[in-house]
Amino acid sequence: MIPAAFDYYRPKDMDGVLSLLQEHGDEARVMAGGHSLIPMMKLRMAFVQHLIDLQDVGGMSDIEVGGDTIRIGALVTQSDLIDHAELAAAAPILREAALQIADPQVRYMGTVGGNVANGDPGNDMPGLMQCLDASFTVVGPEGTREIPAREFFEAAYMTAREDNEVLTSITFPKPSGGYAYEKQKRKIGDYATAAAAVQIVKEGGTCKSASIAMTNLSDTPIFSEAAGAALVGTSVDDTALDAAVAAMLGDIDPTEDNRGPVAFKNHVAGVILRRAIARAWSRA
Ligand code: FAD
Repeated sequence: MIPAAFDYYRPKDMDGVLSLLQEHGDEARVMAGGHSLIPMMKLRMAFVQHLIDLQDVGGMSDIEVGGDTIRIGALVTQSDLIDHAELAAAAPILREAALQIADPQVRYMGTVGGNVANGDPGNDMPGLMQCLDASFTVVGPEGTREIPAREFFEAAYMTAREDNEVLTSITFPKPSGGYAYEKQKRKIGDYATAAAAVQIVKEGGTCKSASIAMTNLSDTPIFSEAAGAALVGTSVDDTALDAAVAAMLGDIDPTEDNRGPVAFKNHVAGVILRRAIARAWSRA
């Protein structure tokens, strides 16, 4: 299918983007890589009369690895994440997750900003950013504000970003300890049936802290504080793993679809989380 007719804009700066958003209201939408929005327009599931391409707007394509903090511009692609050696050394979970997204063609175009701003429960970056306790910077007519990733996702395709705001960057503390991004999918290139992002800090054989977020098991990503807490103070033995999985299952709310019935999804979520915790622990 081809999309319905639309006007295309390519402003040179953020002021141009914001004034177009003001002028056209909810008939306008920004586009980054276009690999979620254009398919939705082609399927006539999204109707956009004014399409504002962000590609010429500067200042959103950099990755900055600082002493304590990492900042990623919204237009950084998944492919950029994979290729950035300094980022891969400082926060290897990003590379591990990005390599499991779609295929190289999609990863060359799909941006980190588009992946989180879309609010698609199937996208991999939202849960990952919750695991990393990231914060999203958005700019709009009232200026700039920060929204924690753990408060950003409200429902499927609904986020705390207003329609006239643009996500410009993502910032998170440099992670420490062991990490794992584990994803179960039906075939290469597919969205997750279930995925788990885990960061664990080990101290003297004991788990000091653990951060766990799950993907595509509710209509938003799920940061499971209780699952992380179940590991803290333990040696991450079988009892602790059982407790973490039970806590996570209490937080997710999967629905039946073409990836399987609820019981299957709960089962896969448990298997995936066990694997992710075990790998993160072995790397911690
Ligand atoms: P766009 O399509 O340009 O935009 C998506 C939405 O976000 C739109 O509503 C747009 O208005 C909004 N938006 C974009 N940028 C901004 C911004 N800076 N500020 C405010 N709003 C913004 N993703 C996964 O995570 N895992 C997968 O397994 C996966 N598999 C895929 C398989 C295929 C075949 C395809 C086509 C896509 C797949 N994707 C997957 C999605 C892909 O990663 C997308 O590219 C990504 O989710 C969206 O990034 P984008 O830059 O293309 O966003």
